[in-house]
Amino acid sequence: MLLLIPGPVSTRPEVRAAMAQDYAPWDNEFRPILAELRARVRDLAGGTAETHAGLPLQGCGHFVTEAAIRTFLPPGAKLLVPATGAYSDRMIRLAREAGRVPVPLAMDPHAPVNAEAVAAALAADPMIGHVGLVYSETGTGVIHDPAPVGAVVRATGRRMILDAISAFGALPLDVSAQPELDAVMFTSNKCIEGLPGLAFAVARIDRLEASMGHAGSWSFDLADIYSMSKRTGPGSFRFTPAAQAVVALRVALDIYDAEGGRPARLARYLANADALYAGMQSIGLHPCLPREVQGPIVMNIHAPDDAAWNLQRFVDGLKSRGYLISNFYNTPMPSFRVGCIGAVTPEDMRGFTIAADTVLTEMGVRNREASRRAA
Ligand SMILES: *Cc1c(COP(=O)(O)O)cnc(C)c1O
Repeated sequence: MLLLIPGPVSTRPEVRAAMAQDYAPWDNEFRPILAELRARVRDLAGGTAETHAGLPLQGCGHFVTEAAIRTFLPPGAKLLVPATGAYSDRMIRLAREAGRVPVPLAMDPHAPVNAEAVAAALAADPMIGHVGLVYSETGTGVIHDPAPVGAVVRATGRRMILDAISAFGALPLDVSAQPELDAVMFTSNKCIEGLPGLAFAVARIDRLEASMGHAGSWSFDLADIYSMSKRTGPGSFRFTPAAQAVVALRVALDIYDAEGGRPARLARYLANADALYAGMQSIGLHPCLPREVQGPIVMNIHAPDDAAWNLQRFVDGLKSRGYLISNFYNTPMPSFRVGCIGAVTPEDMRGFTIAADTVLTEMGVRNREASRRAA
């Protein structure tokens, strides 16, 4: 079964095979594996040992985003969040429930974040200390480049946290060139094609040291993770980790390096998105975004405007042909979404296109124009 979803992604058999062993996380065989991984992800983000730490946290992307909010924003502090879509909404909720004050910045979700609008919002409210940006908005598929947004954050002396969960490992990132970034967050199971179970932040050491005691949570405190690893070494976890996911991630990063690293990963995803976009058009369907704003991570495609359309039946039909897509959508109008990331190729996208064409015909869908019914 090929997962065509924006995480957890299809993985290579070598990655899954790495799980077939038991590990004790405090054992001397395991600790160097974790220590090496932390340095590797820090380096991948563009960090250095002097300035940045790679911090592992058990669990999913939401957990590490909450941890970054709690660690770097004191209770009651304001977080400006450009309203890019479903995942910026999640950051807003995480901030609110952690007792911080999210300030949504309304914007056109189908265009990249406008750095000037961020600058204006920061100028209008001197109490806003941080900006929280979603790099690849998985709700829409639009990419929001952190470099121009970061430049205005830096120029106004503010700080930034970056949800790079569906971007890290494929889209460009250099935390050393963006010192305004307190932390960049990502997980093991998206563009670096590991298994689910592990999240990371790459964070500035000076900011970690200045942020002790903010979190109001022991579980979700990046500063505590940092200080513990200074005491007991970078191979140690505070609590039991998904040890097999750690070992599998090492294999996934070896494959990543062998493929040619970040540029090769991005090139494959771009080729996947090209093949998918052209494929959907070739069978009469309509991607939701114009080609020039469609990012390489996830694509929403308008549901066909036909009474025979049914998302779950479409998903089931595709599944019987070996392709699994999401059975929900995040767009205002009915759509289906297809992930372009994971251990998949343009050839897989062409196979998916044929399967989608066949399933629509079997369902009796005749009109493939975009649905105009509101969801
Ligand atoms: C997947 C994703 C998340 C959340 O990840 P979980 O691991 O499901 O918690 C957050 N932000 C973005 C942009 C994502 O794509």
